[in-house]
Amino acid sequence: VAYVSSRAPHARWAAARAAFGRVVEPQLDASKAEVVASFGADLLAARADTVHVARALMERRRVRARTDTMSRLWVAETAMTVTGATCDERAALRPSEMVPALAALLGELARGGGAAAIPDALRARLAAIHGGPRGAWTAALARDLAAHCGAGAVVCGDDVPLAGHLLAHAANALLGSTGVSYTRSPILEAGEPSHDPQRLAEAIDRKAVAALVILGGNPVYAMPGDLAMARRVREVPLSAYLGEYADETARACTWHVAEQHWLESWGDVRAFDGSLSLVQPLVAPMHGGKSRVEVLGALLGDLAADPHALLRAAHRERAGAAGAVGAAAADDDAWEQALARGVLDPTSFAAEHVTLDWARVVAEAEKAAAPAPARAAGAYELAVVLDGKLDDGRHANNAWLQELPDPITKQTWGNALLVSPRTAKELGVATGDVVAVDRAGAGAGADAASGAGAGAGAAAAVLVPVLVAPGHADGAATIALGYGRTDGLGEAARVGVSAQSLRSSVAGPPSSFGLRRTGTRESLAITMAPRSSEDREIIKSLTLAEHQAPVSDARRHDDDDDEKKQKSRRSLYFLAPGGARQWAMSIDLTACTGCSVCVVACQAENNVPVVGKEGVLAGREMHWLRIDRYVEDAEGKPRVEMMPMLCQHCETAPCEYVCPTGATSHSADGLNQMVYPRCVGTRFCSNNCPYKVRRFNWFDYNRDTPALRALAHNPDVTVRARGVMEKCSYCVQRIREAERQARVEHRPLATGDVVTACQQACPTQAIQFGSLNDDASPVARLRDDVRAYSALGELGTKPRTTYLARLRNTSPDLDREGGDK
Ligand code: SF4
Repeated sequence: VAYVSSRAPHARWAAARAAFGRVVEPQLDASKAEVVASFGADLLAARADTVHVARALMERRRVRARTDTMSRLWVAETAMTVTGATCDERAALRPSEMVPALAALLGELARGGGAAAIPDALRARLAAIHGGPRGAWTAALARDLAAHCGAGAVVCGDDVPLAGHLLAHAANALLGSTGVSYTRSPILEAGEPSHDPQRLAEAIDRKAVAALVILGGNPVYAMPGDLAMARRVREVPLSAYLGEYADETARACTWHVAEQHWLESWGDVRAFDGSLSLVQPLVAPMHGGKSRVEVLGALLGDLAADPHALLRAAHRERAGAAGAVGAAAADDDAWEQALARGVLDPTSFAAEHVTLDWARVVAEAEKAAAPAPARAAGAYELAVVLDGKLDDGRHANNAWLQELPDPITKQTWGNALLVSPRTAKELGVATGDVVAVDRAGAGAGADAASGAGAGAGAAAAVLVPVLVAPGHADGAATIALGYGRTDGLGEAARVGVSAQSLRSSVAGPPSSFGLRRTGTRESLAITMAPRSSEDREIIKSLTLAEHQAPVSDARRHDDDDDEKKQKSRRSLYFLAPGGARQWAMSIDLTACTGCSVCVVACQAENNVPVVGKEGVLAGREMHWLRIDRYVEDAEGKPRVEMMPMLCQHCETAPCEYVCPTGATSHSADGLNQMVYPRCVGTRFCSNNCPYKVRRFNWFDYNRDTPALRALAHNPDVTVRARGVMEKCSYCVQRIREAERQARVEHRPLATGDVVTACQQACPTQAIQFGSLNDDASPVARLRDDVRAYSALGELGTKPRTTYLARLRNTSPDLDREGGDK
């Protein structure tokens, strides 16, 4: 149960039991919602259903015609997240303010009527609830939800206490939301005591556990510190751990069984909505090891379990059972087809009918609406959150993810304590100052206890550098899990600070912590400090209302960098002769959430080297594609804008004219190409590039790559050596492969034959790629969109990559009131 326990869904399950009498999972269908409100849920980055939600949400926010509408996203959160940066209206709340805000929302909704059958007396009690934190914001949200009755959805994050989930269920019930349905949980026996890590800890203490088998998950690191799992696991007479690495859990157990990688094993998994998919090996096990299926087979007495045969038998049995899933997989052909597809269809769970316990809801809402005690001077609330890259630490050994800048803070290789600019002033600290975090009133000057398993109640202090984060709630701090690991990972990955000792396994109101300066500093490997675009309109952004206004008023993006005007301009540069195909890219800034999935996809596809923390500190990161993040009004009501930035493949490329060796030049199909053997590393091209997307290979990053790790390289792409300039090639290897394939099949290249790695990975389909000469290509159409513009187009570089200006569907209520105070 380690995986489940480390993600803390217990409040969600307990709330479902309290609200409906059984454990069900709320399923958000953002494509059906006109208004989505999230309280503490990072919908677009850190949930099991993130890809599904991001895709569905953007379906409802994709604007093409001037008359198109889009849904509105409201977010209440503590630290700025990808979801908060994407939303239309945001409120920064301390963790303790989430439930009162939801209670206030419920009060507003009850006063406005609503679709649910709720006894009048209970409705009146709900309607009597007023106020709450950020009252104007909550009231505007309630009006918006009520105005779209039936097409609104309220979602609650896993870290919000039980009452918050209960109130979110009630809000959806009052609204008659079609955007939220309920299914049974894909996790077997979800909410049962067997999933409670406290119960395991107590059983170990009672000496009631003679043998403990742990299947993956590294619970010794990932479970809250007050459970002291390292000590407790050692106390069990026989413990065995199946894990890929000799990590913290392996160290604590009697036996460690090497686990096969999932790409070496047979198995099956269920997605958040119950969809069943098959795991099948892509390669024979390289170092032996056992799969989970084999270990479970052995525990059941079959020491020579054949995972494939077991899986096959299980699915045959399932198919044979009445009403069971995957009936078609019973015969060989269907099994082969299921393997080819990877997903068994239809296996997602059906929606369940649920009835809400309104009396319980009203009691919780009244309790939450009671005035909260004032925050004591010097006491701060602490949010300990899953890291969007490393999760609970399971991906700490992945250098791509360690080097991926956090979408909001842009920090790489480590974590930090995020505080708002005002809280930083209050504390007298700046980014890089190390502070000690301990329970308020606990012994000052305690040693740092960053190791896993330390007791949270033991007054241990954690020493962590501060990062001043615009948009963070005042009076609170946030730290991400997943860092500060000690075992089972390479030297370079032992970065950051473990926050496990600051977590508690006991549900309750957010605790107070003391933050103290230590007088020391630490360098943070940040790729881009919070930076304004200084009114340069690098990222063009406008509200939906401005976009829909009559053309004469609203064409603010139709200025002199408009492509038609550019084309009519005279240029000193020569235009390359055009071929049959003219490759181009379009990026929709409304659909882009800044999640950075495309950055890793590009790195994997193009063998982009990792430079390590030292390299990032020296400004030598190599990413061909980066996500630029600009923060406007950082100390007021911050607005974050994201922009994927990569080689723009300018038609009149400033880099090409200054290369003394002709190493960078233009192809007939519109690519700005790099010829590595010609490059002598003068870096003139990089100096002359206004987009700063060219990367210089300072070192031979791949010289000492072990043979096994070299298998991760894409064989279709050169592994560059020291001294050459490199940058986005529009995945030229994929273009040429598609052309060859079309030639072999004696057909012309078809629309969609070439998909770049970033485009393929993007969950929201923000990136489109194709030929401008192909009328069927979305790129050709999007280039003529009224929102299309070129970044720094005024320089006359004629980029082949164009952007669609970002749209925000702000609340007319809050706009009228001059924003939320
Ligand atoms: S373009 Fe990149 S950063 Fe933007 S949503 Fe797509 S994958 Fe995420």
